[in-house]
Amino acid sequence: MSLLKKFAAMAMVAVMAVGMTACGGGDDAADTKTYVIATDTTFAPFEFENDKGEMVGIDLDILKAIADDQGFEYELVVAGFSAACTGMEAGEYDAVIAGMSITDERKEKYDFSEPYYDSGVGMAVNADSDIASYEDLKDKTVAAKIGTEGCSFAESIAEQYGFTINQFEDSSSMYQDVLAGNSVACFEDYPVLGYEISRGVAFKLPLPMENGNSYGFAVMKGQNTELVEMFNAGLKNIKDSGKYDEILNTYISK
Ligand code: GLN
Repeated sequence: MSLLKKFAAMAMVAVMAVGMTACGGGDDAADTKTYVIATDTTFAPFEFENDKGEMVGIDLDILKAIADDQGFEYELVVAGFSAACTGMEAGEYDAVIAGMSITDERKEKYDFSEPYYDSGVGMAVNADSDIASYEDLKDKTVAAKIGTEGCSFAESIAEQYGFTINQFEDSSSMYQDVLAGNSVACFEDYPVLGYEISRGVAFKLPLPMENGNSYGFAVMKGQNTELVEMFNAGLKNIKDSGKYDEILNTYISK
């Protein structure tokens, strides 16, 4: 190849590259927002670290299936429950998916998706514990996770039954406190406690589930409205296609 031809070829490549950036990139990239979505650390089977150290769970699979269905991009941040909520309130995260109960109080500041899972609060005690009722908690200490419905429930009956509450940032430390005997019980969502028992944690549930609220995907009120709309549309699609049931069956054996 002559030197001139070489230069000509190189110049053409350069022109093509410029052309490609001009029509291919720019605008599309600006349109494609990557949503930052926060979740909890340990809230099995909704989000938890598996034996391989990977974050898995119903919430994460549902979110992925919905994002695939609706064609949106997101980055998942494993923040912890109260940190996910405060982070979203501070504008660090666009949304939270963390087995979050749709409560009236939260509805004042968050917009929720349609409910995607029914739940309620339960009390777990060590498998060999004598505690069988709330009356048995008199003068004792129980554990709860900061900012959760389980914690609010415990607070709502603490005075009546005369117990104190030890608050934890995450569920694993809360469970450890009960297993170590520092707290005699913990208050947490019933299906989550049931799942921990099914995977070998030496707890039992002496009482039936308290009435509770369903889980929803949350954004700040009036913000990321299109994201909640996509979540709802995608949720409907994955329910219709059988994908939603498939995800649930992966984690919860009927
Ligand atoms: N469902 C409970 C709540 O919303 C707990 C959620 C969680 O701990 N991830 O308060």
